[in-house]
Amino acid sequence: MSTLNDIVIVGGGPVGAAAALGLAQAGHQVTVLEARASLMADDRRTLAIAHGSRLILERFGAWPEAAQVTPITRIHVSQKGHFGQTVLTAQDADVPALGYVMRYNALVESLAQALQRSSVKVITDAMVDAVTSHSDHATVSWNSTTQPQALETRLAVLADGGRALTAATFGAPKESAYTQVALVAQVVTTKAHHGLAYERFTPNGPVALLPFGDHYALVWTGAQIEVEALIALTEKEFLIRLQDYFGDRAGLFTTVTGRSWFPLTLKIIKQVTQPHAVCIGNAAQTMHPVAGQGFNLGLRDAAALCQLAVGMSAAQLGQADMLARYVKSRHCDRSMGIGLTHALVVGFSNNWPLLPLLRGRGLMAMNMFPFARRALARVMMFGWQ
Ligand SMILES: Cc1cc2nc3c(=O)[nH]c(=O)nc-3n(C[C@H](O)[C@H](O)[C@H](O)COP(=O)(O)OP(=O)(O)OC[C@H]3O[C@@H](n4cnc5c(N)ncnc54)[C@H](O)[C@@H]3O)c2cc1C
Repeated sequence: MSTLNDIVIVGGGPVGAAAALGLAQAGHQVTVLEARASLMADDRRTLAIAHGSRLILERFGAWPEAAQVTPITRIHVSQKGHFGQTVLTAQDADVPALGYVMRYNALVESLAQALQRSSVKVITDAMVDAVTSHSDHATVSWNSTTQPQALETRLAVLADGGRALTAATFGAPKESAYTQVALVAQVVTTKAHHGLAYERFTPNGPVALLPFGDHYALVWTGAQIEVEALIALTEKEFLIRLQDYFGDRAGLFTTVTGRSWFPLTLKIIKQVTQPHAVCIGNAAQTMHPVAGQGFNLGLRDAAALCQLAVGMSAAQLGQADMLARYVKSRHCDRSMGIGLTHALVVGFSNNWPLLPLLRGRGLMAMNMFPFARRALARVMMFGWQ
């Protein structure tokens, strides 16, 4: 057999890059294979990153500089057309900020810079086409511009964002396409945000305004046909529609830029390990962006794997014992995180009889009891432990 690599990570997106940093910090030899020509991304997403995720990224030396991030100090939650609202605050949760808003690109850039300072070897232009498990190692293969390539490794970590390779390696995911897609854009309003984010549930899907710099990042979910029509509107028409839909809590909408949309789906890999291989992040679970949990959950996958690898010898990497401990450590956070996100989408995106009333009561109860708000904020920041 050719030289056995300690760990090969497929995908240099935010979860794969974070895992690489943590595993290298744990003293292991790590190689990242990324399909793109560079680790830098060209993506219009803006992410809300929980306080708990900040602590992980800081530990990995990859927290972006202050100018790139905007703290969320309060989150206003409401339902359109019905009573009931609540406000989660950083003060209630006893943290400096509930979370931080940054561009996907800024996060990836900060991770790429940290990778450059680390011992991790990064190979770009490497579109992996197979990960094959054997009894004592896994083989990761791809076609470079010149010839087929392969690496043999004790542990292959799939962080490809949940593409065909994951299904080919771990079996087809349980999948359900939401009837919603997400429109993303940057919007300016007449009112300063002071760190206040809005999550507003509507029968067509949630709409979120995230404080970002001196404006808001908008995530507006709805049926694809409606979202495409919204993108085709002139700026003036779009702003009128948004104002009408969202109301004037955040002030008057004056400018919109960078409109585009993302498909939304729920994909869950049932068995996230194979001999000498594991999938993490969106590869293991792809979720709706409501409540901004996808990356945060994926980062906790990476952090759990890194924690297990601390103090492990190279020979122990990828062994059945390590993989079983990983699955056990992620079971609760993963299933509850997926379940809560899905329940929010299904439970709030309708006007079924009695549900608006029940939801309204739930929001009111949350508003009355600080311990309930604190408990919810902690779950959103640190996951289910
Ligand atoms: C509109 C929208 C808003 C969102 N907002 C939030 C939010 O506010 N908070 C939050 O926590 N999450 C949010 N998410 C979810 C978040 O974007 C994802 O959970 C996160 O990007 C997952 O990271 P990842 O590294 O697992 O996958 P990806 O970001 O998809 O990265 C995968 C990487 O693998 C590479 N790759 C793919 N295939 C191969 C291959 N075969 N070989 C080599 N490399 C490969 C890709 O090029 C890419 O670099 C949002 C998602 C959407 C769509």
